[in-house]
Amino acid sequence: MEAVYYHKNPEAVSDIDVLVAGGGLAGTMAAVAAARCGMKAVIIEKYGCLGGMATSGLVNPFCQYTESNSGRLANAGLFAEMLEKLYAIGGCTSARPRHFEEEKLKLVLDRMTGEAGVCVLFHSLLTGVETEGGRIKYVTASSVSGNTRLYAKTYIDATGNADLTAFAGLGYHKGREEDGLCQAMTLFCRFGNVDWKKFNVSDARAAWQAEKKTRNFRNPCDKLLIFRLPLEGVAHFNATRILNTDPLDVYAMSNAEREGREQVYELLEFMRERVSGMENAQLLQTAVEVGVRESRRIIGHYQLTADDILGTRKFPDSIARGVYCVDIHNPRGGNIIVKRIPDNDYYTIPYRSLVPVGIDNLIVAGRPISATHEAHAAIRIMPITTCIGEAAGEAAAIAVEKGLRMIDVPVPELQEKLKNHGALI
Ligand SMILES: Cc1cc2nc3c(=O)[nH]c(=O)nc-3n(C[C@H](O)[C@H](O)[C@H](O)COP(=O)(O)OP(=O)(O)OC[C@H]3O[C@@H](n4cnc5c(N)ncnc54)[C@H](O)[C@@H]3O)c2cc1C
Repeated sequence: MEAVYYHKNPEAVSDIDVLVAGGGLAGTMAAVAAARCGMKAVIIEKYGCLGGMATSGLVNPFCQYTESNSGRLANAGLFAEMLEKLYAIGGCTSARPRHFEEEKLKLVLDRMTGEAGVCVLFHSLLTGVETEGGRIKYVTASSVSGNTRLYAKTYIDATGNADLTAFAGLGYHKGREEDGLCQAMTLFCRFGNVDWKKFNVSDARAAWQAEKKTRNFRNPCDKLLIFRLPLEGVAHFNATRILNTDPLDVYAMSNAEREGREQVYELLEFMRERVSGMENAQLLQTAVEVGVRESRRIIGHYQLTADDILGTRKFPDSIARGVYCVDIHNPRGGNIIVKRIPDNDYYTIPYRSLVPVGIDNLIVAGRPISATHEAHAAIRIMPITTCIGEAAGEAAAIAVEKGLRMIDVPVPELQEKLKNHGALI
Protein backbone atom coordinates (compact mmCIF):
# COMPACT_ATOMS: atom_id res chain seq x y z
CA MET A 1 0.00 0.00 0.00
CA GLU A 2 1.25 3.47 -0.82
CA ALA A 3 2.06 5.85 2.00
CA VAL A 4 0.35 9.25 2.11
CA TYR A 5 2.77 12.16 2.47
CA TYR A 6 0.59 15.10 1.75
CA HIS A 7 -1.58 16.86 4.30
CA LYS A 8 -4.11 19.52 3.43
CA ASN A 9 -5.94 21.54 6.06
CA PRO A 10 -9.72 21.04 5.98
CA GLU A 11 -11.98 23.50 4.19
CA ALA A 12 -12.98 26.58 6.16
CA VAL A 13 -16.50 26.54 7.62
CA SER A 14 -18.35 29.77 7.06
CA ASP A 15 -22.04 29.39 7.80
CA ILE A 16 -21.94 29.40 11.61
CA ASP A 17 -24.22 31.72 13.60
CA VAL A 18 -22.71 31.15 17.04
CA LEU A 19 -19.26 29.68 17.60
CA VAL A 20 -18.63 28.57 21.18
CA ALA A 21 -15.04 27.98 22.26
CA GLY A 22 -14.97 25.54 25.18
CA GLY A 23 -17.58 22.92 26.05
CA GLY A 24 -17.69 23.20 29.84
CA LEU A 25 -21.09 23.65 31.48
CA ALA A 26 -21.13 27.33 30.47
CA GLY A 27 -20.21 26.67 26.83
CA THR A 28 -22.54 23.69 26.52
CA MET A 29 -25.54 25.62 27.82
CA ALA A 30 -24.64 28.64 25.71
CA ALA A 31 -24.69 26.47 22.60
CA VAL A 32 -27.90 24.67 23.58
CA ALA A 33 -29.66 27.98 24.31
CA ALA A 34 -28.54 29.48 20.99
CA ALA A 35 -29.45 26.35 18.99
CA ARG A 36 -32.90 26.24 20.58
CA CYS A 37 -33.38 29.79 19.26
CA GLY A 38 -32.77 28.46 15.74
CA MET A 39 -29.08 29.30 15.50
CA LYS A 40 -26.46 27.13 13.84
CA ALA A 41 -24.23 26.64 16.88
CA VAL A 42 -20.82 24.96 16.92
CA ILE A 43 -18.73 24.07 19.98
CA ILE A 44 -14.98 23.52 19.74
CA GLU A 45 -13.75 21.56 22.75
CA LYS A 46 -10.21 20.40 23.44
CA TYR A 47 -11.22 17.17 25.24
CA GLY A 48 -13.42 14.28 24.08
CA CYS A 49 -16.40 15.09 26.28
CA LEU A 50 -18.48 18.06 27.37
CA GLY A 51 -18.70 19.38 30.93
CA GLY A 52 -15.23 20.82 31.48
CA MET A 53 -14.33 20.94 35.16
CA ALA A 54 -17.61 19.18 36.05
CA THR A 55 -16.57 16.06 34.11
CA SER A 56 -12.91 16.10 33.00
CA GLY A 57 -11.94 18.07 36.13
CA LEU A 58 -13.85 15.75 38.53
CA VAL A 59 -15.24 18.80 40.34
CA ASN A 60 -18.00 17.62 42.64
CA PRO A 61 -20.40 18.51 44.34
CA PHE A 62 -22.43 21.42 42.97
CA CYS A 63 -21.96 24.34 45.34
CA GLN A 64 -24.96 26.02 46.91
CA TYR A 65 -27.76 27.01 44.51
CA THR A 66 -30.65 27.55 46.92
CA GLU A 67 -31.04 30.48 49.30
CA SER A 68 -29.88 29.85 52.86
CA ASN A 69 -32.80 29.35 55.21
CA SER A 70 -35.70 29.75 52.74
CA GLY A 71 -34.30 27.06 50.42
CA ARG A 72 -35.64 28.96 47.40
CA LEU A 73 -33.97 27.99 44.15
CA ALA A 74 -31.53 30.57 42.73
CA ASN A 75 -30.22 28.73 39.66
CA ALA A 76 -32.78 27.16 37.33
CA GLY A 77 -33.40 27.21 33.56
CA LEU A 78 -31.08 24.86 31.68
CA PHE A 79 -29.23 24.08 34.92
CA ALA A 80 -32.44 22.63 36.43
CA GLU A 81 -33.25 20.83 33.19
CA MET A 82 -29.78 19.24 33.19
CA LEU A 83 -30.25 18.07 36.79
CA GLU A 84 -33.63 16.56 35.98
CA LYS A 85 -32.20 14.65 33.02
CA LEU A 86 -29.31 13.48 35.18
CA TYR A 87 -31.70 12.24 37.86
CA ALA A 88 -33.78 10.42 35.24
CA ILE A 89 -30.80 8.24 34.29
CA GLY A 90 -29.63 7.65 37.86
CA GLY A 91 -26.75 10.14 37.78
CA CYS A 92 -27.77 11.62 41.13
CA THR A 93 -30.09 10.72 43.98
CA SER A 94 -32.59 13.58 43.59
CA ALA A 95 -33.50 16.24 41.04
CA ARG A 96 -31.87 18.86 43.32
CA PRO A 97 -28.59 17.11 44.06
CA ARG A 98 -25.26 18.27 45.39
CA HIS A 99 -23.32 15.16 44.30
CA PHE A 100 -23.50 13.58 40.87
CA GLU A 101 -21.90 10.99 38.61
CA GLU A 102 -19.87 12.78 35.98
CA GLU A 103 -19.92 9.83 33.53
CA LYS A 104 -23.70 10.15 33.32
CA LEU A 105 -23.43 13.92 33.14
CA LYS A 106 -21.29 13.51 30.00
CA LEU A 107 -24.14 11.53 28.46
CA VAL A 108 -26.76 14.10 29.45
CA LEU A 109 -24.70 16.86 27.84
CA ASP A 110 -24.22 14.81 24.66
CA ARG A 111 -27.97 14.31 24.49
CA MET A 112 -28.89 17.93 25.21
CA THR A 113 -26.54 19.23 22.52
CA GLY A 114 -27.56 16.46 20.10
CA GLU A 115 -31.27 17.12 20.52
CA ALA A 116 -30.77 20.88 20.10
CA GLY A 117 -28.79 20.31 16.89
CA VAL A 118 -25.48 21.71 18.16
CA CYS A 119 -22.44 20.65 16.16
CA VAL A 120 -19.78 19.56 18.68
CA LEU A 121 -16.19 19.29 17.51
CA PHE A 122 -14.21 17.35 20.10
CA HIS A 123 -10.42 17.21 20.17
CA SER A 124 -10.41 20.71 18.73
CA LEU A 125 -8.23 23.32 20.36
CA LEU A 126 -8.78 27.01 19.78
CA THR A 127 -5.37 28.16 18.54
CA GLY A 128 -5.95 31.39 16.70
CA VAL A 129 -8.26 34.37 16.39
CA GLU A 130 -8.37 36.80 13.48
CA THR A 131 -9.95 40.20 14.05
CA GLU A 132 -10.83 43.01 11.69
CA GLY A 133 -12.35 46.39 12.48
CA GLY A 134 -13.25 45.56 16.09
CA ARG A 135 -14.89 42.24 15.18
CA ILE A 136 -13.73 38.65 15.16
CA LYS A 137 -13.47 37.47 11.57
CA TYR A 138 -12.67 33.81 12.19
CA VAL A 139 -11.08 31.48 14.72
CA THR A 140 -8.76 28.57 14.05
CA ALA A 141 -9.39 25.17 15.62
CA SER A 142 -6.54 22.67 15.53
CA SER A 143 -7.36 18.99 15.50
CA VAL A 144 -6.24 15.71 14.00
CA SER A 145 -7.76 16.92 10.72
CA GLY A 146 -5.49 19.97 10.63
CA ASN A 147 -6.12 23.67 11.20
CA THR A 148 -9.67 24.70 10.36
CA ARG A 149 -10.87 28.26 9.99
CA LEU A 150 -14.35 28.76 11.46
CA TYR A 151 -16.22 31.90 10.43
CA ALA A 152 -19.20 32.87 12.61
CA LYS A 153 -21.49 35.83 13.13
CA THR A 154 -20.93 35.82 16.91
CA TYR A 155 -18.42 34.15 19.21
CA ILE A 156 -18.78 32.96 22.79
CA ASP A 157 -15.65 32.55 24.88
CA ALA A 158 -16.37 29.70 27.30
CA THR A 159 -12.81 28.41 27.64
CA GLY A 160 -12.68 29.13 31.39
CA ASN A 161 -9.36 30.91 30.90
CA ALA A 162 -10.74 33.51 28.45
CA ASP A 163 -8.37 32.22 25.75
CA LEU A 164 -10.53 33.52 22.92
CA THR A 165 -10.68 37.01 24.41
CA ALA A 166 -6.94 37.10 25.06
CA PHE A 167 -6.06 35.64 21.65
CA ALA A 168 -8.22 38.37 20.10
CA GLY A 169 -5.82 40.85 21.65
CA LEU A 170 -7.98 42.18 24.47
CA GLY A 171 -6.56 42.99 27.90
CA TYR A 172 -7.59 41.18 31.06
CA HIS A 173 -7.09 41.06 34.84
CA LYS A 174 -5.45 38.19 36.64
CA GLY A 175 -5.43 37.26 40.34
CA ARG A 176 -5.52 39.52 43.37
CA GLU A 177 -5.54 43.24 42.75
CA GLU A 178 -2.54 43.77 45.07
CA ASP A 179 -0.12 41.14 43.68
CA GLY A 180 -1.73 39.30 40.75
CA LEU A 181 -1.65 35.96 42.58
CA CYS A 182 -4.47 33.56 41.69
CA GLN A 183 -6.33 31.19 44.01
CA ALA A 184 -4.65 27.90 44.92
CA MET A 185 -5.09 25.04 42.45
CA THR A 186 -6.26 21.52 43.25
CA LEU A 187 -5.91 18.19 41.50
CA PHE A 188 -9.03 16.21 42.33
CA CYS A 189 -8.75 12.48 43.06
CA ARG A 190 -10.86 9.47 43.98
CA PHE A 191 -10.02 6.56 46.23
CA GLY A 192 -11.91 3.29 45.96
CA ASN A 193 -12.28 0.29 48.26
CA VAL A 194 -13.12 2.60 51.16
CA ASP A 195 -15.03 1.09 54.05
CA TRP A 196 -17.56 3.83 54.78
CA LYS A 197 -18.84 1.91 57.84
CA LYS A 198 -15.51 2.68 59.48
CA PHE A 199 -14.34 5.78 57.62
CA ASN A 200 -15.21 9.11 59.20
CA VAL A 201 -14.37 12.39 57.43
CA SER A 202 -13.89 14.43 60.63
CA ASP A 203 -11.54 11.82 62.08
CA ALA A 204 -9.53 11.75 58.84
CA ARG A 205 -9.21 15.53 58.90
CA ALA A 206 -8.17 15.55 62.54
CA ALA A 207 -5.56 12.84 61.91
CA TRP A 208 -4.11 14.87 59.00
CA GLN A 209 -3.98 18.07 61.08
CA ALA A 210 -2.35 16.27 64.02
CA GLU A 211 0.25 14.65 61.78
CA LYS A 212 0.99 17.99 60.11
CA LYS A 213 2.37 19.31 63.39
CA THR A 214 5.25 16.84 63.31
CA ARG A 215 5.58 15.89 59.65
CA ASN A 216 6.54 18.00 56.71
CA PHE A 217 3.88 17.10 54.14
CA ARG A 218 4.48 18.48 50.66
CA ASN A 219 0.72 19.13 50.46
CA PRO A 220 0.05 22.43 52.31
CA CYS A 221 -3.71 21.78 52.56
CA ASP A 222 -5.02 22.44 56.09
CA LYS A 223 -8.58 21.20 55.82
CA LEU A 224 -9.13 18.10 53.68
CA LEU A 225 -12.42 18.32 51.78
CA ILE A 226 -13.68 14.74 51.41
CA PHE A 227 -17.04 13.71 49.99
CA ARG A 228 -19.11 10.55 49.67
CA LEU A 229 -20.42 10.18 46.12
CA PRO A 230 -23.31 8.01 44.95
CA LEU A 231 -20.70 5.38 44.02
CA GLU A 232 -20.08 2.31 46.16
CA GLY A 233 -16.96 2.44 48.33
CA VAL A 234 -15.63 5.65 46.80
CA ALA A 235 -14.25 8.73 48.58
CA HIS A 236 -13.80 11.95 46.62
CA PHE A 237 -10.99 14.34 47.56
CA ASN A 238 -10.71 18.09 47.05
CA ALA A 239 -7.59 18.02 49.15
CA THR A 240 -4.41 18.91 47.27
CA ARG A 241 -3.07 22.47 47.12
CA ILE A 242 -0.75 23.90 44.51
CA LEU A 243 0.34 27.40 45.47
CA ASN A 244 2.11 30.31 43.80
CA THR A 245 1.54 28.98 40.30
CA ASP A 246 0.78 31.14 37.29
CA PRO A 247 -2.16 29.50 35.46
CA LEU A 248 -1.10 31.21 32.23
CA ASP A 249 2.44 29.84 32.20
CA VAL A 250 2.63 26.43 30.52
CA TYR A 251 5.90 25.56 32.26
CA ALA A 252 4.44 26.35 35.67
CA MET A 253 1.27 24.41 34.81
CA SER A 254 3.30 21.40 33.73
CA ASN A 255 5.00 21.42 37.14
CA ALA A 256 1.61 21.82 38.80
CA GLU A 257 0.35 18.61 37.18
CA ARG A 258 3.34 16.67 38.51
CA GLU A 259 3.09 18.26 41.94
CA GLY A 260 -0.63 17.40 42.09
CA ARG A 261 0.07 13.73 41.40
CA GLU A 262 2.80 13.62 44.07
CA GLN A 263 0.38 15.12 46.59
CA VAL A 264 -2.31 12.58 45.68
CA TYR A 265 0.13 9.72 46.24
CA GLU A 266 1.20 11.23 49.59
CA LEU A 267 -2.46 11.51 50.60
CA LEU A 268 -3.17 7.91 49.64
CA GLU A 269 -0.22 6.62 51.64
CA PHE A 270 -1.24 8.70 54.66
CA MET A 271 -4.85 7.50 54.48
CA ARG A 272 -3.88 3.85 54.13
CA GLU A 273 -1.47 4.02 57.08
CA ARG A 274 -3.37 6.22 59.50
CA VAL A 275 -7.11 6.34 58.83
CA SER A 276 -9.67 3.75 59.79
CA GLY A 277 -11.70 2.46 56.82
CA MET A 278 -8.93 3.45 54.39
CA GLU A 279 -6.60 0.53 55.04
CA ASN A 280 -7.30 -1.03 51.63
CA ALA A 281 -7.98 2.17 49.71
CA GLN A 282 -6.87 2.27 46.08
CA LEU A 283 -6.28 5.24 43.84
CA LEU A 284 -9.03 5.09 41.22
CA GLN A 285 -8.53 8.30 39.32
CA THR A 286 -7.07 11.77 39.20
CA ALA A 287 -8.66 14.51 37.11
CA VAL A 288 -7.53 15.01 33.51
CA GLU A 289 -5.92 18.26 34.56
CA VAL A 290 -5.19 20.21 37.69
CA GLY A 291 -8.15 22.42 38.62
CA VAL A 292 -7.57 26.13 38.06
CA ARG A 293 -9.93 28.18 40.20
CA GLU A 294 -8.90 31.53 38.79
CA SER A 295 -6.96 32.82 35.80
CA ARG A 296 -7.92 35.59 33.34
CA ARG A 297 -10.89 37.82 34.11
CA ILE A 298 -12.08 39.92 31.21
CA ILE A 299 -12.38 43.70 31.15
CA GLY A 300 -16.10 44.06 30.64
CA HIS A 301 -18.57 46.90 30.56
CA TYR A 302 -19.17 46.41 34.30
CA GLN A 303 -16.85 44.88 36.88
CA LEU A 304 -18.75 42.96 39.55
CA THR A 305 -17.44 43.65 43.07
CA ALA A 306 -17.52 41.99 46.48
CA ASP A 307 -19.86 44.79 47.65
CA ASP A 308 -22.32 43.79 44.92
CA ILE A 309 -22.15 40.16 46.06
CA LEU A 310 -22.26 40.71 49.82
CA GLY A 311 -24.79 43.54 49.48
CA THR A 312 -27.00 41.22 47.34
CA ARG A 313 -27.32 43.86 44.66
CA LYS A 314 -30.17 43.51 42.16
CA PHE A 315 -28.96 44.89 38.83
CA PRO A 316 -31.54 46.14 36.28
CA ASP A 317 -29.67 44.13 33.61
CA SER A 318 -29.50 40.93 35.69
CA ILE A 319 -29.22 37.72 33.67
CA ALA A 320 -28.61 35.23 36.49
CA ARG A 321 -28.67 34.90 40.26
CA GLY A 322 -26.20 33.55 42.78
CA VAL A 323 -26.25 32.60 46.43
CA TYR A 324 -22.75 31.22 46.90
CA CYS A 325 -20.36 32.94 49.28
CA VAL A 326 -17.03 34.57 48.47
CA ASP A 327 -14.76 31.52 48.82
CA ILE A 328 -11.04 32.13 48.38
CA HIS A 329 -8.49 29.34 48.50
CA ASN A 330 -5.62 31.52 49.54
CA PRO A 331 -2.91 31.77 46.85
CA ARG A 332 -0.24 31.58 49.54
CA GLY A 333 -1.86 28.77 51.53
CA GLY A 334 -3.52 28.86 54.95
CA ASN A 335 -7.20 28.96 55.71
CA ILE A 336 -9.94 29.34 53.12
CA ILE A 337 -11.43 32.86 53.29
CA VAL A 338 -15.23 32.78 53.35
CA LYS A 339 -17.61 35.76 53.29
CA ARG A 340 -21.28 34.81 53.32
CA ILE A 341 -24.34 36.61 51.98
CA PRO A 342 -27.44 37.13 54.16
CA ASP A 343 -30.06 34.39 54.53
CA ASN A 344 -33.18 34.44 52.34
CA ASP A 345 -31.48 36.51 49.67
CA TYR A 346 -29.47 36.35 46.44
CA TYR A 347 -27.25 38.57 44.31
CA THR A 348 -27.43 39.07 40.56
CA ILE A 349 -25.06 39.01 37.60
CA PRO A 350 -25.35 41.98 35.23
CA TYR A 351 -25.34 41.40 31.49
CA ARG A 352 -22.62 44.05 31.05
CA SER A 353 -20.13 41.84 32.94
CA LEU A 354 -20.32 39.26 30.14
CA VAL A 355 -19.48 41.67 27.36
CA PRO A 356 -15.79 42.49 26.85
CA VAL A 357 -14.82 45.99 25.88
CA GLY A 358 -13.21 46.16 22.44
CA ILE A 359 -14.78 43.45 20.25
CA ASP A 360 -18.36 43.83 19.02
CA ASN A 361 -19.28 40.21 18.25
CA LEU A 362 -17.84 38.51 21.33
CA ILE A 363 -19.43 37.56 24.65
CA VAL A 364 -17.91 35.64 27.54
CA ALA A 365 -19.62 32.80 29.39
CA GLY A 366 -18.59 31.14 32.65
CA ARG A 367 -15.79 31.76 35.07
CA PRO A 368 -13.86 34.65 33.43
CA ILE A 369 -16.60 37.30 33.33
CA SER A 370 -15.71 40.81 34.47
CA ALA A 371 -15.34 40.69 38.26
CA THR A 372 -12.86 41.55 40.97
CA HIS A 373 -10.77 38.78 42.55
CA GLU A 374 -13.25 38.56 45.46
CA ALA A 375 -16.44 38.70 43.38
CA HIS A 376 -15.02 36.08 41.04
CA ALA A 377 -14.50 33.83 44.06
CA ALA A 378 -18.30 33.71 44.46
CA ILE A 379 -19.59 33.52 40.89
CA ARG A 380 -17.09 30.88 39.67
CA ILE A 381 -19.13 27.88 40.86
CA MET A 382 -20.86 25.44 38.51
CA PRO A 383 -24.55 26.34 39.06
CA ILE A 384 -23.83 30.03 38.38
CA THR A 385 -21.48 29.54 35.43
CA THR A 386 -24.09 27.24 33.84
CA CYS A 387 -26.73 29.97 34.08
CA ILE A 388 -24.32 32.59 32.74
CA GLY A 389 -23.74 30.28 29.78
CA GLU A 390 -27.44 30.03 29.05
CA ALA A 391 -27.77 33.83 29.10
CA ALA A 392 -24.76 34.27 26.80
CA GLY A 393 -26.28 31.84 24.28
CA GLU A 394 -29.66 33.58 24.28
CA ALA A 395 -27.96 36.97 23.92
CA ALA A 396 -25.85 35.75 21.01
CA ALA A 397 -29.00 34.51 19.26
CA ILE A 398 -30.67 37.91 19.64
CA ALA A 399 -27.54 39.66 18.34
CA VAL A 400 -27.45 37.44 15.25
CA GLU A 401 -31.18 37.76 14.56
CA LYS A 402 -31.08 41.56 14.79
CA GLY A 403 -27.59 42.18 13.47
CA LEU A 404 -26.54 43.91 16.70
CA ARG A 405 -23.30 44.37 18.62
CA MET A 406 -23.31 42.24 21.78
CA ILE A 407 -23.42 45.32 24.02
CA ASP A 408 -26.50 46.61 22.16
CA VAL A 409 -28.61 43.49 22.75
CA PRO A 410 -31.90 44.75 24.28
CA VAL A 411 -31.67 43.45 27.84
CA PRO A 412 -35.45 43.48 28.59
CA GLU A 413 -35.97 41.17 25.59
CA LEU A 414 -33.15 38.90 26.75
CA GLN A 415 -34.57 38.81 30.28
CA GLU A 416 -38.04 37.99 28.96
CA LYS A 417 -36.68 35.09 26.93
CA LEU A 418 -34.67 33.76 29.85
CA LYS A 419 -37.70 33.91 32.14
CA ASN A 420 -39.87 32.19 29.55
CA HIS A 421 -37.32 29.39 29.47
CA GLY A 422 -37.46 28.96 33.23
CA ALA A 423 -34.33 30.88 34.20
CA LEU A 424 -34.25 32.96 37.38
CA ILE A 425 -32.78 36.42 36.92
C1 LIG B 1 -10.21 23.02 42.18
C2 LIG B 1 -11.59 23.50 41.94
C3 LIG B 1 -12.61 23.20 42.84
C4 LIG B 1 -13.90 23.63 42.60
N1 LIG B 1 -14.91 23.24 43.42
C5 LIG B 1 -16.20 23.50 43.08
C6 LIG B 1 -17.26 22.88 43.78
O1 LIG B 1 -17.06 22.12 44.73
N2 LIG B 1 -18.54 23.15 43.36
C7 LIG B 1 -18.81 23.99 42.33
O2 LIG B 1 -19.98 24.19 42.01
N3 LIG B 1 -17.80 24.59 41.64
C8 LIG B 1 -16.52 24.34 41.98
N4 LIG B 1 -15.49 24.86 41.25
C9 LIG B 1 -15.74 25.86 40.18
C10 LIG B 1 -16.17 25.25 38.89
O3 LIG B 1 -15.80 23.92 38.72
C11 LIG B 1 -15.67 26.04 37.67
O4 LIG B 1 -15.42 27.38 37.92
C12 LIG B 1 -16.73 25.94 36.60
O5 LIG B 1 -16.93 24.56 36.31
C13 LIG B 1 -16.29 26.70 35.36
O6 LIG B 1 -17.14 26.37 34.30
P1 LIG B 1 -16.83 26.91 32.84
O7 LIG B 1 -17.78 26.24 31.93
O8 LIG B 1 -16.76 28.39 32.90
O9 LIG B 1 -15.34 26.44 32.55
P2 LIG B 1 -14.71 24.98 32.44
O10 LIG B 1 -15.49 23.98 33.18
O11 LIG B 1 -13.27 25.17 32.79
O12 LIG B 1 -14.85 24.67 30.89
C14 LIG B 1 -14.00 25.21 29.91
C15 LIG B 1 -13.97 24.25 28.75
O13 LIG B 1 -13.20 24.82 27.69
C16 LIG B 1 -12.29 23.86 27.20
N5 LIG B 1 -11.16 24.63 26.71
C17 LIG B 1 -10.30 25.39 27.40
N6 LIG B 1 -9.43 26.01 26.59
C18 LIG B 1 -9.75 25.63 25.33
C19 LIG B 1 -9.22 25.94 24.05
N7 LIG B 1 -8.19 26.78 23.90
N8 LIG B 1 -9.79 25.37 22.98
C20 LIG B 1 -10.84 24.52 23.10
N9 LIG B 1 -11.38 24.18 24.31
C21 LIG B 1 -10.84 24.76 25.40
C22 LIG B 1 -11.96 22.99 28.39
O14 LIG B 1 -11.51 21.71 28.00
C23 LIG B 1 -13.32 22.93 29.10
O15 LIG B 1 -14.12 21.88 28.64
C24 LIG B 1 -14.18 24.42 41.46
C25 LIG B 1 -13.15 24.72 40.54
C26 LIG B 1 -11.89 24.25 40.77
C27 LIG B 1 -10.83 24.52 39.76
